[in-house]
Amino acid sequence: MGVYDIAVVGAGPAGMIAAIRAGQLKKKVVLLERNDVLGKKILLTGKGRCNVTNIASLDAFIERFGKQGVFLRSAFLAFFNQDLIDFLNKKGLQLKIERQGRVFPITYRAYSIVKILKEYLVENKVEVLYKMRLLDIKRKADCFQLHFGSKGKINAKKVILSTGGASYKITGSTGDGFQIARSLGHAIVPLSPALVPLRTGELWSKKLQGLSLRNIRITFEYDKKKIVSDLGEFMFTHFGVSGPIVLDLSANVISKLKEHKQIRLFIDLKPGLSHGQLEDRLLKEFKSQGKVQLKNIMKGLLPHKLIPIFICLLSLNPETRANQITQRQRSSMISLLKALPLTITGSLPIEEAMVTGGGISTREINPRTMESKIIPGLYFAGEIIDGCASSGGYNLQQAFSTGYLAGEKAAYA
Ligand SMILES: Cc1cc2nc3c(=O)[nH]c(=O)nc-3n(C[C@H](O)[C@H](O)[C@H](O)COP(=O)(O)OP(=O)(O)OC[C@H]3O[C@@H](n4cnc5c(N)ncnc54)[C@H](O)[C@@H]3O)c2cc1C
Repeated sequence: MGVYDIAVVGAGPAGMIAAIRAGQLKKKVVLLERNDVLGKKILLTGKGRCNVTNIASLDAFIERFGKQGVFLRSAFLAFFNQDLIDFLNKKGLQLKIERQGRVFPITYRAYSIVKILKEYLVENKVEVLYKMRLLDIKRKADCFQLHFGSKGKINAKKVILSTGGASYKITGSTGDGFQIARSLGHAIVPLSPALVPLRTGELWSKKLQGLSLRNIRITFEYDKKKIVSDLGEFMFTHFGVSGPIVLDLSANVISKLKEHKQIRLFIDLKPGLSHGQLEDRLLKEFKSQGKVQLKNIMKGLLPHKLIPIFICLLSLNPETRANQITQRQRSSMISLLKALPLTITGSLPIEEAMVTGGGISTREINPRTMESKIIPGLYFAGEIIDGCASSGGYNLQQAFSTGYLAGEKAAYA
């Protein structure tokens, strides 16, 4: 087998593009994957449709990654959203831009992306070895020795670790890379779930399981501070709450939960209407339909499933007629429509998070090359690196950008 120029471990988007780029630069590259297929997680992305990137600007991308955004600047400059789009277009795949700049393959099949990555791997003569689970890396005088248990050892001059995070373990991303990097002396920022549904304390919310609310806004409150969502989709589940606007703020909320005992969630069911406008609307409806019972009049305001719970939270009789509702009761209704309260008690575990928060500390990686500052010749790419963004195609772009840069720099060095 000899010594490879570059061994890339983990065939997710980060590893595949790293291997492709190093192959394009004529290096002898091996891509090692523990599964018997490539890109298992990609197939799950975007509900199987793969939101592969976003057309947002570089500054917007950097902002999405919060504290870690600046670290990614060089990687984004090396291979950004338009480069990825061109890379896919070149193989005949057209892409479609949807709301909030999200980019999807026109086929709406995540497999289209994997298929193209496979084509590039073949074209650039990358050797792909399946069912190879890396257990350990040893540094030798002039190379790295990668250990695969009974599958043997592989020697390589450079190694790119792209084993992903520790969520959705069925895809193969079980967090192996963190242990291996730690054993080589790297610090790991504690792992936590990100883009994950949240648990709530109230029993009534569980009764609303499956109810999805569109175009609403939520606010998390702790210690008189607020985290406010964009307008978007929200969902009640059997354990609490989910949906894009919850997932996007979940990492932030989880970090606050560590310091603050109580976090409250307020759902603005009518974000398009002010208190005053709601008051006018209710007054008008209650006047024109004075004899109609509350439970029926609410049909114009709320989804069917929510009505009995909403009325119960107000301690009102559902059969009260509209013209019997007092001003104080109307005022309580408006307050509840603008801020339906829930208590956040935690989140689902990291296994069920779409992305892993934490990972290899960016302080120990050179942002211009993705090379370890501790072990020369070792590179990192993708979700294994600390830092993640909200949904919208940003995380896959991070994997492609860091992978491309690592592959290129490992090849040139
Ligand atoms: C349900 C779901 C939906 C998502 N949707 C989107 C979306 O639409 N848009 C978006 O931008 N992001 C999305 N993401 C996030 C996105 O999938 C990840 O950010 C991305 O896959 C990370 O790429 P990666 O290459 O770093 O890691 P991964 O894709 O996790 O790949 C890592 C690879 O390494 C392999 N591996 C692990 N350990 C070893 C080992 N010891 N030896 C050999 N191989 C190993 C694994 O088997 C795996 O193939 C979604 C995630 C999930 C779970």
